[in-house]
Amino acid sequence: MTTSHDRTAGIPMRLFNTLTREVADFGSANPPEVGMYSCGPTVYADQHIGNMRAYVFADTLKRALDWKGFRVRHVINITDVGHLTSDADEGDDKLEVAARREHRNAWEIAEQYTRDFKADLMRLRIIEPDVWCKATDHIGEMIRFAEVLDASGWCYRLPSGLYFDTSKDRDYGKLARLDLAGQQAGARVEVAAGKRSASDFAVWRTSAPGEKRQMEWDSPWGRGAPGWHLECSVMSIEYLGPHFDIHTGGVDHIPVHHTNEIAQSEAYLADGLPWVRWWLHGEFINLRGAKISKSTGGGILVTDLIDRGYHPLAYRYLLLQAHYRSQTEFSWDAMDSARAGLRRLVDRFAAARSTPAERLGGAAAEHLAAFDRAVSDDLNTPRAVAAAVAASRDDRLTDGELTALAREFDAVLAIGLADLSPADLDLKRSDVAISDEEVRTLLAERNAARAARDFARSDQIRDQLASVGVTVEDQPGGVSTWRWT
Ligand SMILES: [Zn+2]
Repeated sequence: MTTSHDRTAGIPMRLFNTLTREVADFGSANPPEVGMYSCGPTVYADQHIGNMRAYVFADTLKRALDWKGFRVRHVINITDVGHLTSDADEGDDKLEVAARREHRNAWEIAEQYTRDFKADLMRLRIIEPDVWCKATDHIGEMIRFAEVLDASGWCYRLPSGLYFDTSKDRDYGKLARLDLAGQQAGARVEVAAGKRSASDFAVWRTSAPGEKRQMEWDSPWGRGAPGWHLECSVMSIEYLGPHFDIHTGGVDHIPVHHTNEIAQSEAYLADGLPWVRWWLHGEFINLRGAKISKSTGGGILVTDLIDRGYHPLAYRYLLLQAHYRSQTEFSWDAMDSARAGLRRLVDRFAAARSTPAERLGGAAAEHLAAFDRAVSDDLNTPRAVAAAVAASRDDRLTDGELTALAREFDAVLAIGLADLSPADLDLKRSDVAISDEEVRTLLAERNAARAARDFARSDQIRDQLASVGVTVEDQPGGVSTWRWT
């Protein structure tokens, strides 16, 4: 299908870069390829719907770039060791704490919460990254990275581990525009014994004498575990090369985690170039008004939305109605409005769906151009949604044009315009997480992977389906069947 609107040659993609605090035309180092790394979850507990905003944001950004003609290679990490109960070097490892709380093995905990997280991504139609990487699979690489830092004089040793000396980095804090002098003077930060300044951070944490941890490894600095920031530097460089295009995360990562990733990566690379050119950060959604989950007593989970009869895409629609750099509020009233709004939209596109896509005429092309302008303007999803709403209400458009537009809009928004019917938005079965259609799409992808002998990918898709209650059985002759379990 062709449209009269050429999105690849037209409007440049403009994005806000936290590093420069400016909106500018996005370009990649090696177009059309884009390397993008997103900080993933610490898998010690369920990810609530507030946590999921960061991944809906990264997914929408990736979809938008692909739609604009780029080809994004996306990497998300799984933090299964190293993240302490405070973002600074204080407290215990979150996984070890969870293991004690749940009287379970830290490895099992990581596995379970990773599975749950991936199931939620699928429910929200977040495309799986090209690479999943977890910290505990990269301990050797992290030690080698830390050895380079240590050997080139960036670090000092304490009984509690190896620390990065931030005073040696003239650019330290450039992302967050930290006022270090002010920070030191007014320091009320707890400082680990012997740390030269509050901003110094652990690259390696050595276990205390006599302490036995579930997750620890031998290193030149004693038995222990990597500092939290190290994994993101090491794995992003491993899978995307020393310099890549985009790094995303929540705004809470700016002052400590991303600041420290930059410091150690630029010290390690030592080539005088900025490590990553584009830093994009998503804002919070405030759950204050309605924060208690039925199942956990903590933050609301995607499965809580489903239990209350909301389709997960109604939540995605709610998120897209706010710009990613604006804080927004969650409430059950807002969920009801989002569901009603999405239902009206889906209603019109579903009614048109039996008519095959047609080439866009002038009025339809103008709606697509408005959508493109919104997406290209620092990922302005509220305006992009408004463009879809305007198209759905324009009675000059034919059903064939609406079918064509639904595919274009959904490539970026992923809210079911191309396949949901209004009835799908009221869940009857509390365990419906994905549609049969989505299962078939994933199975087709898995069959292709099997045909290409990419068994890792094929197993990954089988596990992903298992996590949402779909069992796949491979029959002789390369045929696969599936059923709900
Ligand atoms: Zn990270």
